[in-house]
Amino acid sequence: MENIVVTGIRGLPLIKAGDNIAAMICERVTIEDGDIVSIASTIYSKAKGYTKALVDIIPSDKALRLGKLNGEDPRFVQAVLDASVDIIMEYPFILSELSFGHIGVRAGVDQSNIDDGMVIFLPPNPMQAAAKVQEEIRQIAGKNVGIIITDTCGRSFRRGQTGHAIGWAGFTAIRDFRGDVDLFGHELKITEEAVVDEIAGFANFVMGESNNGVPAVLFHNCPPWAGHDNIYFTKDEDITRRLLKEKCPS
Ligand code: GDP
Ligand code: MN
Ligand code: MN
Repeated sequence: MENIVVTGIRGLPLIKAGDNIAAMICERVTIEDGDIVSIASTIYSKAKGYTKALVDIIPSDKALRLGKLNGEDPRFVQAVLDASVDIIMEYPFILSELSFGHIGVRAGVDQSNIDDGMVIFLPPNPMQAAAKVQEEIRQIAGKNVGIIITDTCGRSFRRGQTGHAIGWAGFTAIRDFRGDVDLFGHELKITEEAVVDEIAGFANFVMGESNNGVPAVLFHNCPPWAGHDNIYFTKDEDITRRLLKEKCPS
């Protein structure tokens, strides 16, 4: 029996630049070896100062044009452009690729859960961020945990946002079922389960959006899995990306 115990970590303050979120989490929950701690990118970025005041941003001509096109503050648009390495679609919202391979609406730049007039960027290297928090928890609590840094993201084809993993440490992103046999002895040829996104999705559900104040979630007793980390399609493999770029030239 695998009774996975999922605990929303309450009682964390509003996170400020310089806060040690690993220590703050360890003060509030008992962590065991093998647990998974899922952390909202929002608080990681606030703790590390990956934020900016809109008044300090001077919009480029492109930001002015896209701001007008989408009815958005051009300074916010400039923040999105700064966070992007490739613009895949400009309208009716900016969809872009970030340096670490993630493709997201408005490059994941947020204006919620921070002071008025401020924006929060996704961590520039979320894999390294997850590894760092993992190491800090090892130092503080002496426990070996897995970490997932999440963001709430929209999806193609379906309405509604879900939690996605943007960085992880301690396990592979994908549980690879290829080569396994099903109940009837058929070999699985395609199935690669994106386990990190499934856990991020449930963590996001426990976090809630808006004002719930639960930016981290602990998973106890998850079974282990094996696979690989190649969660992002290569440019050649990614049909959606290719078609969007063809149809929505920028
Ligand atoms: P994102 O999904 O990473 O963009 O983060 P959200 O803004 O959706 O926040 C996720 C959860 O963390 C929600 O429950 C928020 O209320 C909570 N949250 C965000 N910032 C803070 C903070 O500084 N302190 C606390 N305690 N909770 C926060
Ligand atoms: Mn977000
Ligand atoms: Mn969210």
